[in-house]
Amino acid sequence: MTADANRTPVVFFGHGNPMNALGRNSFSDAWRRLGAEIPRPKAILAVSAHWYTRGTSVTAMEKPRTIHDFGGFPRALFEVEYPTPGDPALAARVRDRLAPVGVSLDESWGLDHGTWSVLVHAFPAADVPVVQLSIDGTKPPRFHYELAKRLAPLRDEGVLIIGSGNVVHNLGLIQWTEGSKPYDWAIRFNDIVRGHLAASRHEPLIEYDRLGEDARLSVPTPDHYLPLLYIIAMQRPNETISFPVDGIEHGSIGMLSAAIGLQLS
Ligand code: ZN
Repeated sequence: MTADANRTPVVFFGHGNPMNALGRNSFSDAWRRLGAEIPRPKAILAVSAHWYTRGTSVTAMEKPRTIHDFGGFPRALFEVEYPTPGDPALAARVRDRLAPVGVSLDESWGLDHGTWSVLVHAFPAADVPVVQLSIDGTKPPRFHYELAKRLAPLRDEGVLIIGSGNVVHNLGLIQWTEGSKPYDWAIRFNDIVRGHLAASRHEPLIEYDRLGEDARLSVPTPDHYLPLLYIIAMQRPNETISFPVDGIEHGSIGMLSAAIGLQLS
């Protein structure tokens, strides 16, 4: 592992099915390896697709609850707890850095499954404080990219910034049948996004809605895509990007993960 000793990496996780939180599979194993490669952060700032709000909020409680924000899954998934502490001081730092955009200090949310379903694997000890930042669903993609840039200095303070969503995320066309093949449009869009990421071409990623029908099918709503823009906004010139996970699950759910500033061993 090599990384700038003074700058934490940033990571986009394709979280996919909440059931990935339970047990082991190729995705959860990759998230575990990734977590082990990252120098221990002082705190984690997480942007999850599942905290999609009007206005921007940041969790500011001492002990964020584990939110089971889904239905129709086995009881074992509702029993998962990720009892990591919060970090009210970091929440205040985030609010200050994002000014003049108003940020509410939130005491009612917690950690949703976009965050904990990956962190139970990447940081299984649940001993690194976690703060969540919401996504203002009323704002266009470029707003999120520009907002995230103001958070980049936190990387120099030992804060690991993660985004959790899915590059391809079409629940309406999901295929639960075992062994179902990815849709052609899902493969094409995933490849296009990966290509732009690999070449640090941010503009077409911000303006993804210009990428045509494949983008429209892959990103029918922006919630799972926007966390990716928070992550690429942190990329410095010539900073490396790697892809610890790739693939399409259930036909229409892209599992691509991207790590910036971390050379995987
Ligand atoms: Zn999700």
